[in-house]
Amino acid sequence: MAERVGTLIVGGGIAGCALAHYLAEEGETDILLVEADELGSGSTGGSFGGVRQQFSTPLEIELSRRGLEFWRTAERVFDSPVPWHQNGYLFMSGNADIVAKLAEAAKLQRSMGLTDVDVLDVEQIKELTPWVGTDGLLGATYTPHDGKVTPTDGVSALAKAARARGVRIREHWDLKSLEKSGSGWRVAGPEVVDAGRVVLCTGYWSSDLLRAFGLELTIHPVPLYAAITEPALAGQLVPLTIDLDTGLLIERESGGLLIAVLLEENPPGYGHAQMLDNYADLARVRAPSIVDVRIAKHVVANVDLGGDGHPYVGEVEDGLWMIAGFGGHGVMHAPPVAQLLAKIIAGRPDPTLDISSLSPWRKPGAASEWMVASKKG
Ligand SMILES: Cc1cc2nc3c(=O)[nH]c(=O)nc-3n(C[C@H](O)[C@H](O)[C@H](O)COP(=O)(O)OP(=O)(O)OC[C@H]3O[C@@H](n4cnc5c(N)ncnc54)[C@H](O)[C@@H]3O)c2cc1C
Repeated sequence: MAERVGTLIVGGGIAGCALAHYLAEEGETDILLVEADELGSGSTGGSFGGVRQQFSTPLEIELSRRGLEFWRTAERVFDSPVPWHQNGYLFMSGNADIVAKLAEAAKLQRSMGLTDVDVLDVEQIKELTPWVGTDGLLGATYTPHDGKVTPTDGVSALAKAARARGVRIREHWDLKSLEKSGSGWRVAGPEVVDAGRVVLCTGYWSSDLLRAFGLELTIHPVPLYAAITEPALAGQLVPLTIDLDTGLLIERESGGLLIAVLLEENPPGYGHAQMLDNYADLARVRAPSIVDVRIAKHVVANVDLGGDGHPYVGEVEDGLWMIAGFGGHGVMHAPPVAQLLAKIIAGRPDPTLDISSLSPWRKPGAASEWMVASKKG
């Protein structure tokens, strides 16, 4: 006999846990969340956890505003440890076109009520971050109130809140098949479950799972090789700093730094050794005092890249929904998007923000979000 549930949520990353919490908050009952591995073990667990307001399209800017509010207040709202580290975000470039686009994006952000975005010239970059090598730079944008979190803190807080509202959570439960059955869906994993509604929150696994339904999504895993350093730049401000011309990323990680080079795709054979060689070449120009910084540990995790920089959110077929494909910024955006989707599923869409443009069935070529952090030059 198949088990019967009202809503089956598949995937226990930040999106699935947020959706479970917000659906339950909307009054939905009989919700089961299943996760193939452990909660937060996908992209969410390996994420750097940066939360920023700098985007270039109105929808992503608004999602960022809501995401920032979620993370800044999560500790109090969920009564759970979710520390917020406010180091700011600094995007810089020596390419006149990119600097012009950064300034244009800052103008849009300001027009939407973001008061604390600064457009910096080279002297101001030097003043803010004296450790940045400014040769060849033309400008930057800086948002001092952005910051970073540990994403699994959010997963734990949301899962705790969802459980408190009656959501059941099963880990090590891998969905193997999904098919229409009567007015609902039959799902096979370790057990067979008949669900009135299924929501796939399966990150970069979603492209494979949804191909059978005619959706050709390009979300795919891209390993991001990074390293955490021994203590460095003591006492200095280190915003989450990205050189858009090269993809060089330097950010604070406890007393040390997290360093990486952000690429859209890795060249064949790429790994930590190549990334660190690449880092040293780039840091010689952009961060000369930390070229030889000592490495404490290597880290790598798969980013959910692909698509047009916007997530895929909405109904795939009657009773089958999805929320996935955040293009490397799901930690900041998944909580507000899940809240909006929960309201849509519950039949009470939020009148203040329309996310119908995020439909999984949207045509390619919709306005793309270019401020997806990776090399632009
Ligand atoms: C190195 C790195 C740095 C990043 N930096 C940032 C950042 O600074 N800021 C930011 O906002 N974002 C960042 N991201 C991106 C962010 O982490 C992701 O966009 C976000 O975590 C996606 O969440 P998700 O819940 O959609 O997917 P995931 O966290 O991948 O969760 C999907 C879950 O579905 C489960 N699943 C898959 N298939 C099945 C199945 N068949 N049955 C059951 N369960 C299944 C998986 O096990 C997984 O746990 C980064 C990511 C990485 C890897």
